[in-house]
Amino acid sequence: MVSTLIGKQAVVVGAGMSGLTAAGALAHRFDHVVVLERDTLPTEPTYRAGTPQARHVHALLLSGQRALSELFPGFEQKLARAGAVPLRAGLEAVYYGKRIRVATWARYRLM
Ligand SMILES: Cc1cc2nc3c(=O)[nH]c(=O)nc-3n(C[C@H](O)[C@H](O)[C@H](O)COP(=O)(O)OP(=O)(O)OC[C@H]3O[C@@H](n4cnc5c(N)ncnc54)[C@H](O)[C@@H]3O)c2cc1C
Repeated sequence: MVSTLIGKQAVVVGAGMSGLTAAGALAHRFDHVVVLERDTLPTEPTYRAGTPQARHVHALLLSGQRALSELFPGFEQKLARAGAVPLRAGLEAVYYGKRIRVATWARYRLM
């Protein structure tokens, strides 16, 4: 059988969404993938200096969710356990400038 490996080691700089997704993709093609991150990564979902944008509400659209689930089996379940809220964009969330309002029945679904 022909090996699908490209090389022994790949190095990714940054453990944000891009870096970790790249590392996940490279893991299928390299023996080792090293991710260099300047922050100490927290074990719980929380803010850190290297990703200041994380203080804003972030939404993951369906195509991104599907792609990440393909790359990382169990991704959706892990997101849910970490506190992610499933919403139908435009139906259950309304943006008012910097604020986001979640429809009452969507909030109820979270309880
Ligand atoms: C207000 C706001 C709202 C947003 N809302 C959404 C949204 O709803 N949905 C969405 O998909 N996107 C959203 N985005 C965009 C999204 O946040 C970014 O596209 C995404 O976080 C970029 O990820 P990244 O991994 O490329 O970079 P980053 O998240 O910036 O990660 C870079 C990583 O590299 C590390 N790093 C940097 N320099 C070094 C170094 N020299 N050595 C080692 N490590 C280093 C940092 O510590 C960090 O961990 C939003 C952005 C903003 C600002």
